[in-house]
Amino acid sequence: MEIIDIVYIEGDGIGPFVMEAAMKVWNAAVGYVYNGSKKINWIEAYAGKKSLEKNGSLLPDETLKKLKEVKVGIKGPLETPVGSGYRSLNVALRQKLDLYACIRPVKYIPGIKAPVKSPENVDIVIFRENTEDVYAGIEWEENSKEAIEVIEFLNEKFKINLHNASIGIKPISEFRTKRLMKMAIDYAVKNNRKKITIVHKGNIMKYTEGNFRKWCYEIAEEHKDLIDKNSIEINDVIADNMFQQLLLKPEKYDILVTPNLNGDYLSDAAAAQVGGIGIVPGGNIGDEIALFEPTHGTAPAIKDPKMANPTSLILSGVMMFEYLEMKEVSSLIENSLKKCIKSGIATKDIMPDNPVSAVKFAAKIIENF
Ligand code: NAD
Repeated sequence: MEIIDIVYIEGDGIGPFVMEAAMKVWNAAVGYVYNGSKKINWIEAYAGKKSLEKNGSLLPDETLKKLKEVKVGIKGPLETPVGSGYRSLNVALRQKLDLYACIRPVKYIPGIKAPVKSPENVDIVIFRENTEDVYAGIEWEENSKEAIEVIEFLNEKFKINLHNASIGIKPISEFRTKRLMKMAIDYAVKNNRKKITIVHKGNIMKYTEGNFRKWCYEIAEEHKDLIDKNSIEINDVIADNMFQQLLLKPEKYDILVTPNLNGDYLSDAAAAQVGGIGIVPGGNIGDEIALFEPTHGTAPAIKDPKMANPTSLILSGVMMFEYLEMKEVSSLIENSLKKCIKSGIATKDIMPDNPVSAVKFAAKIIENF
């Protein structure tokens, strides 16, 4: 029997509840497809509240070590208190493991109520840069010693007239932009996607977002043969226009490549367009390590966490099995999940009048294999 090691982190809030449901589906699908010849060995790692209680640390070195060793993981959402001195655990995980691409496929699932007229026209994959931009976390508060020093330095050295303010730094580099775009090109080739749109605000931020656009085109040019052979079209759209394009003409878009901040906004907007963040999956991918996760947070507003929707996490697992080249497992889960939702079996966020719990939803998916 082949044993496949995968690290999992339950997460906070609804995390343990959706993880329990999703794991039932993943294990059952692997059992169904391989009939005992392959099995997942789930290795638990800790982060967030559970980790703080167990190890006294929100993100212990042991967790990073396990992910570096095993190289594939899946996690539930982790809580990040707003404005409380400590930085987002999710951002820390992405940076420490160099998971430089946040990949989010956004596609409508028939049966789900969506806020737009033709949600079925949305079938895009967003490649968001995960390590740079204003999200790099380099910032200083107004009146802090550091902010004052930075402002004085800039004013003196570059003869600008910057007033006292909080300061954030927006690094965007050629190397990190090009490796993201290259990953998007490889993904397009592998998954038969025919268009890559570079999303940027280069008209205003010329040397950061403008160069993001330039470097994306440059790496595309370097791989011209591959792009031509697979008939992939490359274009670019300014970020604010992209938001309306996605609403008005989603069928014209396929893969979007974006810097970190705009990619974050675009991902949630696109998810809302097809019916919410409870259903859209995600993966944080680097050259060595991949960590999959749902797009939603810990959902503190959900009173009964047993009723939370595990779809986003289950589909993040579908992405993970694709990454592990276990395509049969991915297709089995995806098709069965769609069948369930189409036939009206779903959690409260989707079927408010006649909902099933997360675990019951999982059982129905398994029944439908
Ligand atoms: P959220 O995603 O937790 O909730 C937003 C809305 O979506 C709420 O109405 C919620 O009830 C609903 N929702 C989310 N997931 C759902 C699900 N599975 N089923 C049904 N409904 C669902 O966002 P928030 O309230 O802004 O954030 C709460 C906490 O989660 C914060 O601490 C935030 O930092 C954290 N967070 C973590 C991640 C992550 O771990 N990657 C991502 C986003 C937010």
